[in-house]
Amino acid sequence: MAGEPQADCLFCKIVAGEVPATVVRETETTFAFRDINPQAPTHVLVIPRAHYPDAVALAVAEPAVAADVLTVAGQIAEEEKVAGTGYRIVFNTGAGAGQTVFHAHAHVLAGRGLAWPPG
Ligand code: 5GP
Ligand code: ZN
Repeated sequence: MAGEPQADCLFCKIVAGEVPATVVRETETTFAFRDINPQAPTHVLVIPRAHYPDAVALAVAEPAVAADVLTVAGQIAEEEKVAGTGYRIVFNTGAGAGQTVFHAHAHVLAGRGLAWPPG
């Protein structure tokens, strides 16, 4: 069923506590933790607890939860004191765009110069 945990999904395992992570924030619908290979001083991943392969699939199936992911991203930016200077929310979507984990996630990146356009 859509949204159900997937046995072979790393981020479902992190939500379930089966794989450890440095947790930043938890809500009823979302889970946020530090990226294991940070690309900036602040690099937090915000994911829905429910399993969807990417952010668009999440938005189509559960738009309120997609909005929760963005709301939490903003709260993390406030907590990390980067909201004022600026931060980037990235949803890599598809292998060709660099997506490697097929459970929807927002990258929240900040704390260094962020080039535009991104690579
Ligand atoms: P993607 O490339 O799919 O947009 O992002 C996946 C992210 O997950 C990468 O930035 C990668 O560093 C991170 N990641 C992969 N495995 C783990 C893990 O076991 N723990 C944590 N905290 N992050 C992970
Ligand atoms: Zn998953």
